[in-house]
Amino acid sequence: MNLCDLKTVRQIMSAFHLTFRKEFGQNFLTDRMVVEDIAEECCADPDSTILEIGPGIGTLTYELALRRREVVALEIDRGLIPVLQYTLGEFDNVTVHNQDVMQVDLDELLAPYFAKGPVSVCANLPYYITTPILMKLLESGLPFDYITIMIQSEVADRLCAKAGSRDYGAITAVLAYYGEAEHLFTVPADRFVPAPKVNSAVIRIRLHKEKPYRPKNEALLFRTIKAAFGQRRKTLSNALSAGFPELSKEQINAILASCGHEPTIRGERLDIAQFTPLSDALAEALGQSGS
Ligand code: SAM
Repeated sequence: MNLCDLKTVRQIMSAFHLTFRKEFGQNFLTDRMVVEDIAEECCADPDSTILEIGPGIGTLTYELALRRREVVALEIDRGLIPVLQYTLGEFDNVTVHNQDVMQVDLDELLAPYFAKGPVSVCANLPYYITTPILMKLLESGLPFDYITIMIQSEVADRLCAKAGSRDYGAITAVLAYYGEAEHLFTVPADRFVPAPKVNSAVIRIRLHKEKPYRPKNEALLFRTIKAAFGQRRKTLSNALSAGFPELSKEQINAILASCGHEPTIRGERLDIAQFTPLSDALAEALGQSGS
């Protein structure tokens, strides 16, 4: 069975009386090379367990099951569960759960797999909740080796952007705190059924085993980043004044100077290595140095 073949996909959907559900972001991959490349590139260790979010009809799951020790997949659409039993029936290393990734307790679900060896995430994500899913994975604090995701091309550009570039934003700086993102390849819209309106890209995030940046107060680091990008065309001094009304303009400028920044610098020039000491200085001034 060739799950990348358009005719086969349509036959399967019709045999199980299913339609593509837009509200679940169902755009299924139909390019074998792309599917194989993602399964190959998603992590280094064949002994890994892969958490797949949204297996659809099992196209990527199939290639992951061939290459990795185990696959645990979460699919929100109940209608696809019998399809997955059919398309993945030959594998004894795949477990599919009919669950919403946003509701599931990842700690509990993955504890037995982490006990066996490395765990990575691999998914062609539903675009309507890309950022919430990514943030849930990162904030879970689970020691994933890699998170490899297919996402909208412009979101990929944002996540992989360098400080100071047009695409660089708060999410880029936050992601850099957790790991290192790498753009793998772009996938044109016509490689999916139904075709989405935009092109896609695959990125791979290698999570830091030991975080290189250790803020005194993590929540305040995120607040600093959010404030810095809250007023994009303003100077960092003005943006931080708006984001930290507890501090006077003079205090903010003194903090910026203590970190070696001119008050006229813009927030989008700072990378995570610079945001960390800045947030520490703000924490000091606010008397919030504890995490
Ligand atoms: N992996 C398949 C492929 O590449 O062809 C399907 C990818 S499709 C872009 C996204 C999949 O995620 C769909 O199967 C959809 O039903 C599922 N999905 C959407 N929201 C979800 C959620 N909150 N939790 C789990 N799965 C979800």
